Order: sequence, then structure tokens, then C-alpha cells
Amino acid sequence: MSRSAPQSAVSRPRRGWAAGMSRPVTILTVDLEDWFHVLDNEATRGEVQWRRFATRLPEATAALLAQFSRHGVQATFFVLGWVAARYPEVVATVAGEGHEIACHSDMHQLVYEQTPQAFRADLAAAVKHIEAATGIRPTAYRAPGFSITRATPWAFDVLADLGFDTDCSIFPAPRAHGGFAGYGAGGPAMLRTPSGRRLRELPINYARVLGQPLVYGGGGYFRLVPGAVGRWLVRRQAYNMTYFHLRDFDSGQPMIPGLSRVRRFKSYVGIRGAAAKLDRLLDSGEVMTLGAAAATIDWDRVRIVDLAEGQAR
Ligand SMILES: [Zn+2]
Repeated sequence: MSRSAPQSAVSRPRRGWAAGMSRPVTILTVDLEDWFHVLDNEATRGEVQWRRFATRLPEATAALLAQFSRHGVQATFFVLGWVAARYPEVVATVAGEGHEIACHSDMHQLVYEQTPQAFRADLAAAVKHIEAATGIRPTAYRAPGFSITRATPWAFDVLADLGFDTDCSIFPAPRAHGGFAGYGAGGPAMLRTPSGRRLRELPINYARVLGQPLVYGGGGYFRLVPGAVGRWLVRRQAYNMTYFHLRDFDSGQPMIPGLSRVRRFKSYVGIRGAAAKLDRLLDSGEVMTLGAAAATIDWDRVRIVDLAEGQAR
């Protein structure tokens, strides 16, 4: 198998190749949660608050599944355990349409605000709920708000303990909910956990534009970056990780109470045009699931990020 010069049909040299990659990948992922699962905000902090809001999840999921089906694409859904417990039929439909099922915690809390014991209990509950709804035991995980940081390397050991082999929680650029310092621009790596076990990492990525890191693959960033620029970046980069939410496309959702002006802007900018923007990205014919992308990577050759060497602070 060729391991250097990737021969993509649309071949212009791409940026951001990582060791072990044999072809460009654009990974299509969705964090399956409701419109009110917003972090770091008193009015949406936990289940007591969530119960005050009316769900939009079944309809919004159906709309997104229909859109994926029109394009004939498969995605990876990081499912909230709370969602799997309350709407098992929705999650079963997602799995039934051939999408990949992964885990997005049970109760959508920031990892760096939890003890290792609380994180383990939450993760076990999520696995139980997702497995009950779909019959599938998830092996890939993404933390709410990408909140596994250099300060919480123990979370990777807990993931390994509970049978996970793939993590997508690393956000390599600085951000409100932490970010993972020193990872680099984003690309696949093998994490060595503090106890010496291995976990595949497929992180968020960013591109350098005019010297600045620009995240473009999901959430408010996807809605904010003009579509043509986003698609140009996807074609330019060898590794792209997208991450979407139902609320990114739902222009009928109520306004979340209690958000600052900046967060309100980031939460609602560009929602009206987002579905059309996603249509054009899906038209590119490049997107794939996490599993399909992982299968193109030679995991014996990827960079090793060692969290056991006292780098973790
Ligand atoms: Zn989330």
C-alpha cells in the first residue's frame, strides 16, 4: 500500500497530512442532543432545567436523516445517553438507517468539572442507555464541549476501562471550554494514556489562514465561515473533522435564556443558511463516517501523544 504521496483523484497537494494517513478524509459527525443542551449556562445546566423545555429532537433528527439520505451519505452520531433513554426510537432509527453510533456522555457535563469517579459513572450510564436503544455498544467517544484537557488525562484511562478504543474529544485550538494545548493542528494520533494503554484520537482540526488558526468544521464556526471558504478549506486539508448539532440547522428553535451577547451571536448566526451550506458540503462526495476514516489510517504509523510522560498538567 502506498503510504506517502496520497493519490486522490482530485489531486492538488493538500495540507495537514499526518503520519499514517493514506488518503484525505472528511469525517461527518453529529452530536445528537436537544436544542437546550447548552454548556456553561445556568438556565440549561442539568436535567432539572432541561425538563422546562419542549423537545425538538425527534423532528430535527428526522430532517437531518432525510438530508443525509438524499445525499446517500453516512455519518457518525455521538449520542447523548440521556437522549437514548428518553427517545430510544429516534436513536434506533438513526442506527437503523446505517449511521454509526458513538457516545457523547450521559448527562452532558464538562469533563474537567467532574471527578474521575463521576465521569466513570456517567460514561457507564451512557453506554447502558445507548446499548439498550440500539443493541450497539459504542466504542468511540466525544466529550461535551471537547472538555477533556491536559488537566484531565485520567479520562482516557476511564474510556479504555469501559471498552472505548477511539476518542474525538481533543479540540486543538484554544477555546472557552479548555482546548488541548500542544496537540498541533489536528490529525489522527495514538494516545498513550497515563496507565500506558492506547486510544485512537481523531480530533477537531483547524487550518492556518493568514497565520491564524481557523476552525471551520462545525457548530458556530461552520455557520460563520462563508460556505465557499469552508469548502475550499475542506478541499485544501488532508484531514477534516466536522461536528454538527441539530440546533445548527433548526431556525424554529427558541432563544436559550441567559446567554451573553457574544454567545447569542455564536449560537444563532447563520442558522437559516446552514442546511443549504451542508447540502453543498455533502455534494462534494467526500464525507465518510469515523469508522470508514479510521480504516484508511495505518495506526501503527501515526504519531504517539504520550500522556504518561508527565506532560499532563
Ligand atoms: Zn454536546
